[in-house]
Amino acid sequence: RAGHVAVIGRPNVGKSTLVNALVGAKVSIVSPRPQTTRHRLLGIATFPDGQLLLVDTPGIHREQKRAMNRMMNRAARGSIDGVDAALLVVRAGQWDDEDTLAFEALRNAGVPVVLVVNQVDRITDKTALLPYLAKVSEGRDFAAVHPISALKNKGLDALVKEVMALL
Ligand code: GDP
Ligand code: MG
Repeated sequence: RAGHVAVIGRPNVGKSTLVNALVGAKVSIVSPRPQTTRHRLLGIATFPDGQLLLVDTPGIHREQKRAMNRMMNRAARGSIDGVDAALLVVRAGQWDDEDTLAFEALRNAGVPVVLVVNQVDRITDKTALLPYLAKVSEGRDFAAVHPISALKNKGLDALVKEVMALL
């Protein structure tokens, strides 16, 4: 199995940390020029049962909301065509307008979206996690929801297994 997987989310949620953890080496930013191709290659993660080509999508990672709005329109027109699945990365306990914009862009693109709730190691009261997961999932059609810690390497095996199954 192999597939293109978009890694999407607002700044500082841990996208680069996740890509580095999956790739297993600090090589995530392979291509520094976002506009040269439709997808920007972040890294290639190789597992016993397949490969994930982790890509970014021009525009969607940008910090400006204006750019996010443009991206929503582009995504609706199919700019993430060819992506087999998308990881929407958020920070555990948080969900703001930028997370909503990223979600909307992906929803319009018609690819399966796995919600990756990163940085769960920062949640000291673990009983708060379940209600949070329920709240952010409500009314949003995620293919799966995975709490992880990219930094502490927690939950990554289950996430990879899930994504492989979507390819
Ligand atoms: P990006 O902007 O989405 O690519 O986010 P980065 O990967 O650069 O991470 C932003 C900050 O969050 C960095 O200081 C990371 O070390 C930290 N970070 C990322 N993942 C985790 C995590 O699972 N747990 C904790 N505690 N910190 C994390
Ligand atoms: Mg980054």
